[in-house]
Amino acid sequence: MNNFNEIDLIEPIRRALAEENYHSPTPIQAKTIPAALEGNDILGCAQTGTGKTAAFALPILDCLGRAHRKAQPNRPLVLVLAPTRELAIQIGESFKIYGRHLRLKTTLVFGGVKQGAQVRALDRGAHVLVATPGRLLDLMDQGFIELDQLDVFVLDEADRMLDMGFLPDLKRIIRELPDDRQSLFFSATVPPKIRELSQSLLIDPISVNVTPKKQSVDLIDQQVMHVDRSTKIETLAEILSDDDVDQAIVFTRTKRGANMVVQRLERKRISAVAIHGNKSQNARQRALAAFRDNRIQVLVATDVAARGIDIEGVTHVVNYDVPTDPESYVHRIGRTGRAGAKGVAITLCTAEERSELRDIERLIGMKIPLADGQQEPTGPIVKKQKASQRSSGGGRRRQSSRPSVRGQAGSSNGRSGRASSPNKKKLAASGRQSEAPSGGRSEAKSGDARGRGASANEASGGSSGGRNRRGRRPGKNARSQSKRSNRSGE
Ligand code: AMP
Repeated sequence: MNNFNEIDLIEPIRRALAEENYHSPTPIQAKTIPAALEGNDILGCAQTGTGKTAAFALPILDCLGRAHRKAQPNRPLVLVLAPTRELAIQIGESFKIYGRHLRLKTTLVFGGVKQGAQVRALDRGAHVLVATPGRLLDLMDQGFIELDQLDVFVLDEADRMLDMGFLPDLKRIIRELPDDRQSLFFSATVPPKIRELSQSLLIDPISVNVTPKKQSVDLIDQQVMHVDRSTKIETLAEILSDDDVDQAIVFTRTKRGANMVVQRLERKRISAVAIHGNKSQNARQRALAAFRDNRIQVLVATDVAARGIDIEGVTHVVNYDVPTDPESYVHRIGRTGRAGAKGVAITLCTAEERSELRDIERLIGMKIPLADGQQEPTGPIVKKQKASQRSSGGGRRRQSSRPSVRGQAGSSNGRSGRASSPNKKKLAASGRQSEAPSGGRSEAKSGDARGRGASANEASGGSSGGRNRRGRRPGKNARSQSKRSNRSGE
C-alpha cells in the first residue's frame, strides 16, 4: 500500500495527514489501520519510530469521526494507556494533530502533577483519554473516571509497562473494561509474559509484526569504545565535542549517574540537561522542549524517562553505561536514525560491562564494530556485580507500592464468560454502520461466535470470518469509590 488514499479514512483525517506531509502509510500503518477499521483486535509488535501512534490513532479517529457521539462527562469512549508521562503527552498530541479537523476532545491524565486540571477536563467530557496507569486508577477510585462506555482500549508499550512493575495495575484496569470493546495491543517485544497478557486482553487478534530487531538496528552506525571507568567522562566529552555531533542523547543506568554526567559536561561547557523519574513533570517538559528547540545539545536520560521520546534530529546516542537489559539497547539506539536519517550509536564499555555487551550482541545477532582507532580489549571479562552492589539511584524495575484491590487477588482477568453480543457497541460498529447501514462491515460480522484468547491471525491474511463481540459483564460498575491516598503517579 503506497498511499493513504487506498485506506478508507474520512476526509478530515486525510486532510490532516496531507497537512502533515504524510503520503504513504508506514508498514505498521498499512497493516494495522485496515484491520482495526474492521473492528479487529490487534497484537502489534512495533517500536516507537515506526509510526505506530498513527497506526492506532487514525482508525480510532475515523470511527469517532463517523459516529458523531457526544463526549459524556467522566466516561471516555477510548482509553489509551501508556507507561510514561512523556509518551502519554506525545500520544495526546498525535490525536490532536490527526484529529484537528474533527470535533473531538482528547484529554490526558498522568501522575506527578496536581489532579485538579485533569479532573476538570474529565468533567467536561472527552472522547479519548490518554493515561498512565497509576493516575488512571487513582482517578477511577475517586469516581472521576468510569470505563463503562469504553469502545476501544489501546495498550501501548506493554513490555515497558511490565518492566516498570505495572502488571498489577494493568490487571486491575483490564478487569474494569467492558467486555464489548475493541483492544489494540502494542509492544516492542513479545516475551511470554506479554503474550500471556495479550491473550487475556485480545480476542482473535490480527498480529502485526514490523520490527524485526536486526533490521531496526541495521540502519544505525553502531560503535563500541572500550574504556576505563575513570576516563569515561573524558571520552564522553570528546565524543560530544566532535563537529558531527549536533544533538545527542546520553543514557545512564541511574538517575544519580544522569545528574553527575550533566554536572561534569557543564563544567566542560557542553550544554546538557537530565531527564529522569526524580524530575518534576514540568522540569522534564522544559528539558525536552529545550532539547527539541536545539537550545541544549545533550539530553542525559535514564531508560524509563527516555522511552517514547520522539525527537527528530538526534544525530548521536551514547550509552554512557551499557544497559543491563539487552532489549534496552535496541530501544536506546532507536532514538537516533529516526525517519530514515543517519544515526550513530556509541557504547562506552568498561571491563565490568563486557559481559553485558556480549548479551546485547547475542540479542541483535551481530558484533558491534569497534570505533575508529579502538582495539579489542585484551584483559579478562570482569565478573558482573550483583544489582545490589551497583551504584544507587534505584533499580530498573519499579515495584508498585499501591495497596491491592479488594477481593481481586489472583482472580480472573474479567473477560471470562464473554458471550456473543447482538448489541455490539464498538466504534467500528456504530461509526461505520451510520455510513453503510446495510451490508456494512460491522453487520456482516455480528453474531459469529469466536473463542477467547485464540491465536493471532496474520495481518496479510486479513480477518477470516466475523467477530463476535462480547456481552457485558454484570455488575461491573460496582467499583469501590474509596479514596486511596499517597498514590504517587508515574
Ligand atoms: P511513532 O512511531 O508513532 O512515534 O512515529 C514516529 C515518527 O514518524 C513521528 O514523528 C511521526 O510524526 C512520523 N510518522 C508517522 N507516520 C508517518 C507517515 N505515514 N509518514 C511520515 N511520517 C510519519
